[in-house]
Amino acid sequence: MGRSIFDTLKNHDLILRMLSDNLPDMLWIKDVEGRYLFANKAICDRLLMAHNTDEPIGKTDLFFATREREAHADKPQWHTFGELCFDSDKIVLQEQHPMRFEEYGNIKGEMVYLEVHKAPLYDDHGRLIGTVGSGRDITEQVLTKQALIAQTEKLDHQSNHDTLTDLPNRQLFQDRLTQAISRAKRSNTSFALFFIDLDHFKKINDSLGHDIGDQVIIEIAERLRRALREEDTLARIGGDEFTVLIEGCRDLKNLSTLAQKLIELIKAPITVTSHTLYVSSSIGISIYPQDAEDPRDLLKYADSAMYRAKDEGRDNFEFYTQEMTELAFERVVMETSLRIALAQEEFILFYQPKYNAATQSFVGSEALIRWGHSTMGIVSPAKFIPLAEETGLIVKIDRWVMNEAMRTYTQWYEAGLNPGTVSLNLSIKQLEQEDFIEVLQEAMQRHRFRPEWLELEITESQVMKNPEKSIRLLEQIHALGITLAIDDFGTGYSSLAYLKRLKVDTLKIDQSFVRDIPFDEEDSAIVNAIIALAQSLKLDVIAEGVETQAQLDFLLEHGCCHIQGYLTGRPKSADAIEELLRNGR
Ligand code: C2E
Ligand code: MG
Ligand code: MG
Repeated sequence: MGRSIFDTLKNHDLILRMLSDNLPDMLWIKDVEGRYLFANKAICDRLLMAHNTDEPIGKTDLFFATREREAHADKPQWHTFGELCFDSDKIVLQEQHPMRFEEYGNIKGEMVYLEVHKAPLYDDHGRLIGTVGSGRDITEQVLTKQALIAQTEKLDHQSNHDTLTDLPNRQLFQDRLTQAISRAKRSNTSFALFFIDLDHFKKINDSLGHDIGDQVIIEIAERLRRALREEDTLARIGGDEFTVLIEGCRDLKNLSTLAQKLIELIKAPITVTSHTLYVSSSIGISIYPQDAEDPRDLLKYADSAMYRAKDEGRDNFEFYTQEMTELAFERVVMETSLRIALAQEEFILFYQPKYNAATQSFVGSEALIRWGHSTMGIVSPAKFIPLAEETGLIVKIDRWVMNEAMRTYTQWYEAGLNPGTVSLNLSIKQLEQEDFIEVLQEAMQRHRFRPEWLELEITESQVMKNPEKSIRLLEQIHALGITLAIDDFGTGYSSLAYLKRLKVDTLKIDQSFVRDIPFDEEDSAIVNAIIALAQSLKLDVIAEGVETQAQLDFLLEHGCCHIQGYLTGRPKSADAIEELLRNGR
């Protein structure tokens, strides 16, 4: 009789082999240093690429990891299992309880996922002698799960986005709107909702077909996307309807500028196949919380504002509230009429006398512009200079002022009068024009105007916006023999280091500090400090806005004798100044 199965099973080694080598799971035993004491066939074949089950004995995973890397150097190199297993063994030895790991790594350059169980191993005396482990390939399950997640995400994206433009759809927009409301509520801020509708879009679809219509929508979506900031939510909520959430505190002026910009951008020609199309649009704007605090109302109000824009002739924007629209409109009208004013020379130049109060003599005047508006009457520069600065119209306006003042002053000098110097307020925008020096020289030549008759005023805040550049520019102007003054001094955070390097001759104390001297202690101290600063930098100092004798006395007492203000003379017409120069009053 041959050996019975029972005899065979008495050999423990053999039992272990039969069991372990015929199961699909990977099985192993390692000592505390991570060296294999036992490895079954599955781990040798699948993970270690060992030739037989004896090969791993005495070696660690790091040995096989290196071999794997070298053998597949041409394949993408994730981390190998060997390195990972080596680390998780250490954890098990430290924690001393069974653990489960999900690990992934390279096998022959392929990504494989394993589910691994490891447990600490003790001898008869309870001493820790190593680890025992099993591993199972779960790559297929993991990949299926990943595909499922991707599919769900895709479906989720599809149900929230418009298929044509991939922009958020109405549903997602409503979510974002609700979120924006809670954010704004929390941070006590406001935001705007734009409702954009293309004008006569139906005509394009009807006459050229839906394919072309679709291309137009895609192009417009792209233009809008590019023009907006990352944080603005742009959505397509209907055939030719887009909405935008503009969060963050943009004021009304910025909103109307943005609406205008979007309208222009949609209007630029669109080429589809052989057609060149022009699409205009109408925009309605509602504002949270001013107009409504509820998402439905905000959308409804923006929509109704959009219809009003259509009623007003399309190609236009409207705010939900009438007064907002009026304010925005006023600005547009103002800009247009400023342009007209310039073309039709509706500006008038006034001159305000500057005196040396110590000698009681007239030393010059500051040219101050006025707008002689046909219906509004005389408009103060405070009303239109900021807009002129913003739109760049200031450059032309200041050039007009320059010519007018030079012409007048030369006339006075040539008539034998002594009008001293004329101060011109110069916007930094003007200074920064490439041709400024040329234009200045050319104007002086044309009017036979001498540089020593001229003083240019530039405000402290404008100088300090770009001090290095100002230093260079002012140097060039100074070299022509023109004097320079810093206007509104004290309001613009000058750095003393820059001040020293600026080629200026005069500091002009801002009228806000002069107003309450000598009674306000703080202002008196500031005025005093500016005078002292000017003296130590060897600069001239002039106080503007001097209205009372008490102010003048204070200034004289502290060493500032040059003054300008209502006390000694309001801004006057050229004729009135000429009269003053001739007759002393
Ligand atoms: P600024 O250069 O600081 O001019 C002084 C302003 O103070 C003038 O206002 C003047 O009328 C006013 N003022 C003079 N004395 C007194 C006084 O005793 N009391 C009070 N309360 N005010 C006094 P204005 O003419 O309205 O000009 C305002 C600003 O507009 C000017 O401030 C200047 O920055 C700017 N500006 C005026 N004309 C021009 C110009 O031609 N070009 C440029 N770029 N800016 C100009
Ligand atoms: Mg000034
Ligand atoms: Mg000033």
